[in-house]
Amino acid sequence: MTTEIRRPIAKAAPAPRSDAWRTSAACTSQDRERFYSESQKAVGQARGFCRSCPVIGECLTDTMAQESGRYRWGLMGGLTPLQRLALQWEERMHGHRPDVVAARLLISPQWRYTLHGMNRLTPEMAALRLRVTGGLNVDAVTVRLALWWLGERGSRVRQRGRRQEPEVDRLIRLYGPVIRQLRALRASHHDVAAYLGAQEPIVSLAVSRLEKADKTEMENAA
Ligand code: SF4
Repeated sequence: MTTEIRRPIAKAAPAPRSDAWRTSAACTSQDRERFYSESQKAVGQARGFCRSCPVIGECLTDTMAQESGRYRWGLMGGLTPLQRLALQWEERMHGHRPDVVAARLLISPQWRYTLHGMNRLTPEMAALRLRVTGGLNVDAVTVRLALWWLGERGSRVRQRGRRQEPEVDRLIRLYGPVIRQLRALRASHHDVAAYLGAQEPIVSLAVSRLEKADKTEMENAA
C-alpha cells in the first residue's frame, strides 16, 4: 500500500477559507467545556470525540492556520495546545505538513494496534518500520500526529533506558544538533521543549550549556 507522504508548506496564495466542515463536526452537540478542561479524564473523553470526528484533519489545519505565538487553547483537531505547537515546529524543521489522510488511516482499526506498539520508538524509526514491515509509505511527522491522535506520548525524546545518565547530558548527547537547529530558527526554550517532548527546565539547562560551549569554541578559534 502506498500513501502520499509529503505536503509541502505552500507559498501560493491561500484558497478562500471555508467553514463548511464545521457542520460535520462531532463536537457540535457536545459540552465544549471538556475540550478546555484541565482534567485528564475530560480531555481523554474529548480526544475520543476528535478521533471519531470525520473532519479532524480540516479542524486541525484550520485551527493551526489561525494560531501563532504561545497563545493556544483547548483540544482542537485532536491535539492539545502543546502538541499543536510541537507540530508547528515539526513543519518548520521538516519543511512539510503531515499527511492528515494518511494519519487518519494510521488510527483506523487496521493500523491502530500496530501503531500502539511503536510508541517507544522515535517517529522516524516508527515510520521506517511501517515502511519496511507494512509497506506503508508515511513520514515521521505524520506518524507523530497519528500517535498523538491515539493519545500516545509520541515524544521525540526516547524514554529513559537503564543508564543512569543525567537527563540534561542525555539530551545534549542525543539531541544537541537538533536543539542547535531549532535555536537557529529562533525557537524559544518552550518551543524546543514542546518539539522534543521534554521538560522545559531540563531543556533550558541543555540550551545554556550548548550555547556556552559554542561561545567558548568561537572565542578559542578567534
Ligand atoms: S476534531 Fe475535535 S474539536 Fe475538531 S471538530 Fe472534530 S470533534 Fe470538534
